Amino acid sequence: MPFTANRQFKKSPRMFVAAKDMHYTTSDGRQVLDGTAGLWCVNAGHARPLIVEAIAKQAAELDYAPAFQMGHPKAFELANRLVDIAPRGLDHVLFTNSGSESVETALKVALAYHRVKGDGSRFRLIGRERGYHGVNFGGISVGGIVTNRKMFGTLLTGVDHLPHTHNLAKNAFTKGEPEHGLDLADELERIVTLHDASTIAAVIVEPVAGSTGVLIPPKGYLQRLRDITKKHGILLIFDEVITGFGRLGTPFAADYFGVTPDIMVTAKGLTNGIIPMGAVLVSPEIHDAFMGGPEHVIEFFHGYTYSGNPVASAAALATLETYKQEDLLTRGAELAPYFADALHSLKGEPHVIDIRNIGLVGAIELDPIAGSPTKRAFSAFLAAYESGFLIRTTGDIIALSPPLIISKGQIDELIDGIRTVLRGIA
Ligand code: PMP
Repeated sequence: MPFTANRQFKKSPRMFVAAKDMHYTTSDGRQVLDGTAGLWCVNAGHARPLIVEAIAKQAAELDYAPAFQMGHPKAFELANRLVDIAPRGLDHVLFTNSGSESVETALKVALAYHRVKGDGSRFRLIGRERGYHGVNFGGISVGGIVTNRKMFGTLLTGVDHLPHTHNLAKNAFTKGEPEHGLDLADELERIVTLHDASTIAAVIVEPVAGSTGVLIPPKGYLQRLRDITKKHGILLIFDEVITGFGRLGTPFAADYFGVTPDIMVTAKGLTNGIIPMGAVLVSPEIHDAFMGGPEHVIEFFHGYTYSGNPVASAAALATLETYKQEDLLTRGAELAPYFADALHSLKGEPHVIDIRNIGLVGAIELDPIAGSPTKRAFSAFLAAYESGFLIRTTGDIIALSPPLIISKGQIDELIDGIRTVLRGIA
């Protein structure tokens, strides 16, 4: 099992056998309130009829079409629908099957773009400490999580990292964007000076770092990155695998922060988690740069057997339709203040050293147990599961990202459940 202590899990497995709307059903028949939208992906809630029906219909009608030199209408329809809801300035799409593949695709687009423009000396990729960009080699190279990197050799060369933006001393218990840390974006100027702009292809960041504990960018930080990258001809890539599709109360984080990248990486909420799929959106400048050669030439030599798979495309189209019918891409904005107040009511509970939130995502950071590998947050996860709540933990941090259909009553239920758990753990 992925990212799981397998031997420990086998001794006391936790199994889900069904799911509907906001709840999972466990193998011992209990209801568990989904506080994490599965793994930050089931944004419309579970087993939504429109999506379920679309999948069954598409599987019967056209199950698969070759992805190379052949097409099918649903993938094109989906690309157009995505561009309709994407930030202006991102208007072409490449399909993948996961966030990790979207990241690799985006990095390859960035490198190849400079080459087709005759600027092949731009080979460096800049990521960020505590960034998570999936588990493939490009992603773990630009990512900034040591446990994901240390067993796998030299990784990609020519990679550097910005510092992370987490600052407990100055920003603890901030609601929304923290005040302190804008100057951390200026570290990009230092990196540019160190390597020279002419060697740097792209900078990749998660607008809000999710997997390493919901690290919200300081005020003005992403705009500063945009200004510096633009000034030096460096592409800016936003990894919106978590922040995309309404998580912050806007369709994408780019909308929330008013900063448009050159390339946007998505997955998860694209199909509501039902079928693996990702999409990478690029600017017209990038698209056009690839279109300059002779017509018979394959412009970008890359793709997957399942790129734009018909059933995945149908699931994504039905997902986007569900989001539209229920205004889910903006619902988070209405609920965010309520969610923020509920979450911050946990201040003062045992072990809590920070609480942070943006849109419908939040984190509760717990005091580490000195000198011990045991994490209180994991004990909280186990206790929460036993008492009927699914939360996510990463190190000493509890992360919450409920489906966007959550009610205020269910927010209270979730937060009160966590309050009880915190009071019960050592
Ligand atoms: N990027 C980000 C920001 C993610 O959060 C994730 C998954 N948590 C990924 C990439 C990788 O996605 P996947 O697990 O679908 O490969």
